[in-house]
Amino acid sequence: MGPEGTGRTVLDLRDAVKTYTTGSGLTVRALVGVDLTVREGAYLAITGPSGSGKSTLMHVLGCLDALTTGSYRLDGVEVGAMDEYGLAAARNRLIGFVFQQFHLLPGLSAVRNVELPLAYAGVGRADRRARAVAALERVGLGDRTDHRPGELSGGQQQRVAVARALVTEPALLLADEPTGNLDSASTEDVLDLFDELHAAGRTIVVITHEQDVAARAQDRLHLRDGRFTPPPVIAGATGVAR
Ligand code: ADP
Repeated sequence: MGPEGTGRTVLDLRDAVKTYTTGSGLTVRALVGVDLTVREGAYLAITGPSGSGKSTLMHVLGCLDALTTGSYRLDGVEVGAMDEYGLAAARNRLIGFVFQQFHLLPGLSAVRNVELPLAYAGVGRADRRARAVAALERVGLGDRTDHRPGELSGGQQQRVAVARALVTEPALLLADEPTGNLDSASTEDVLDLFDELHAAGRTIVVITHEQDVAARAQDRLHLRDGRFTPPPVIAGATGVAR
């Protein structure tokens, strides 16, 4: 058990292999036997050059793409054994996604954007609204609930996206280049928010090619040619193991 939390394992990848077959029949090995354990309360950055497998790993961790071989357990459940319904439920309830492009719906106010995952989960209107407002307050945007994305700064839009990711109380906050579209002040804003969420016990995995973003995380792992280099060592005290 580490000081960061209960030591509960949020995700566990074992010998994860992902290969693609191109149109011309060539086999590309995007992940080559990756092992990764992330414990509750960890704040991990995964870095790597272009082509190293970051997007592939993000898609696997996000239950958006299946492994070719190996095991991925999310919140104790083997993802490879889930059907489409189970995968959709896992994405909705267990993972909060934050993307480089925010992916907010421009025609909806901030609070309605944040409500969306709850609507998909079948939460009733009044409860949904109250939870979305609370999530926006949590990210410091309690006074911007009725603004549309176009009326917010980039940093504020990403804060709305973080509120949307957190509103379902997911086991994992999974961020893909979350500051890639932000200026330095907004980047700082979002990284400060991640620090706060980490301090509050959230489990965060950030995939980024930006070293200054990775530097803010508690742990860093580097992908190269589809594997971690060097392989992660047991670091139970910090929340990432093997
Ligand atoms: P990164 O996100 O670090 O740039 P990717 O995960 O996108 O890396 O890619 C890892 C490797 O897998 C690269 O060699 C890439 O060309 C290859 N790859 C990614 N997606 C596909 C695909 N759909 N079909 C074939 N090869 C792919």
